[in-house]
Amino acid sequence: MNKLDIFGRSVDPAIAASVVVGVVVVLWLVRRWVAGGWCYSNARLDGKTVVITGANSGIGKETAKDMARRGARVIIACRDLPKAEAAASEIRTATGNNKVTVRKLDLASLASVRECAKKIKAEVKKLDILINNAGIMMCPPLKTEDGFEMQLGVNHLGHFLLTNLLLDLIKSSAPARIVNVSSLAHDFNNAKMFWDDINLEKNYDPMVAYGQSKLANVLFTVELAKRLKGTQVTANSLHPGTIETELTRHTQQAICAMSLPWRIFFRIIMCSPIGNFFRKTAVQGAQTTIHLAVSEELKNTTGQYYSDCVPAKTNKQSVNSENARRLWEMSAEMVGLDKKVD
Ligand code: NDP
Repeated sequence: MNKLDIFGRSVDPAIAASVVVGVVVVLWLVRRWVAGGWCYSNARLDGKTVVITGANSGIGKETAKDMARRGARVIIACRDLPKAEAAASEIRTATGNNKVTVRKLDLASLASVRECAKKIKAEVKKLDILINNAGIMMCPPLKTEDGFEMQLGVNHLGHFLLTNLLLDLIKSSAPARIVNVSSLAHDFNNAKMFWDDINLEKNYDPMVAYGQSKLANVLFTVELAKRLKGTQVTANSLHPGTIETELTRHTQQAICAMSLPWRIFFRIIMCSPIGNFFRKTAVQGAQTTIHLAVSEELKNTTGQYYSDCVPAKTNKQSVNSENARRLWEMSAEMVGLDKKVD
């Protein structure tokens, strides 16, 4: 057989073909590995109601689409109404399910969270699945309307209040599920709760603040599951994977201040088009949330943390029942949980 001329070298065509096939197989295997776990449940959600926060983009939108495809009535709770209406319209068109509606929710405002919970309670008689998905990552030092550090305020405190305000409705709809989208970042640099400086006013670091807020998601889930014992309402948290979404929109400033290994990770894996090859798509990133929300075999699973649709390890130092209780009490105080508000 004639040899091939590749970059001035004569190569046997069989060897060249084997190399090409080998490279394609390796690339395919890498993509398969990156894709992670998949939710294979065929569970239908006809007659059920799902509320999902931050569903106008990223994995929230794909999760909402999946819930709608299964027949649920889906309320997407978002801060930007035009974006949310566009997403709801896209979901209705893609799934043929017209029971997809929008509610205004700005998690950086306790007044908005209270208003949203009030409207949802007036609108629906049942709430079968609550998915606390919205999040903000590594923003500059910002405060919420109520003066909390932005990432703690949006990622944890807003969801803490929303969940508690909806809890009676959820309990009365049991069996029901609560899913909290956390992150592997709850374990970054041995993340911990800064009990004496919870708003990180003394020394703000965007990555530390994100880690603390995501650790709060895991601790909230642990205590919530404990408090829900015997109610047939489950609560679980998860890491969705590293995904191609809009989450990195605030990270540019923070990346410049990072140590070299993190800078390389964020620039190449999280923020560059090359990194897309190593990141999940939004549909793949939504799978663990969907699994926890619908899979029949998880109906009694509670207080757990999942990644790639299987149980995963949490931060050993910080995830324990004492910290979970302490965070609950501190959060209740911060959001004025017992305060009577009309
Ligand atoms: P996106 O940025 O695409 O989605 C985040 C959603 O949260 C958006 O809808 C956004 O709304 C909403 N949001 C932000 N701030 C507020 C607020 N104040 N009030 C209400 N909604 C708000 O990112 P992802 O889909 O990636 O993120 C979803 C979740 O997944 C987050 O909790 C994130 O921490 C987690 N996660 C993501 C990872 C990833 O690699 N992408 C990795 C690990 C965890 P708006 O469009 O108006 O800003």
